[in-house]
Amino acid sequence: MSDRELYCDTCEGVQPFEAPPCVDGHGVDCPELVCTGCGAAVLIATFAFRAPHLAERRHRRPAPRRHAA
Ligand SMILES: [Zn+2]
Ligand SMILES: [Zn+2]
Repeated sequence: MSDRELYCDTCEGVQPFEAPPCVDGHGVDCPELVCTGCGAAVLIATFAFRAPHLAERRHRRPAPRRHAA
């Protein structure tokens, strides 16, 4: 469930990343992700989670006209 596909510099491609055994006591909230392709590249999930495109899409709907009573 923790698989995330991210770009790995070492593998020079997109690889599935997964949370490594945490040694820092983060538990299930561990922000670290390790590349399953090379096993070496470690990313911090908070960076990987950024989706710069999402925030740009804003649909502005005209408010429905509601006449009170
Ligand atoms: Zn951790
Ligand atoms: Zn890799």
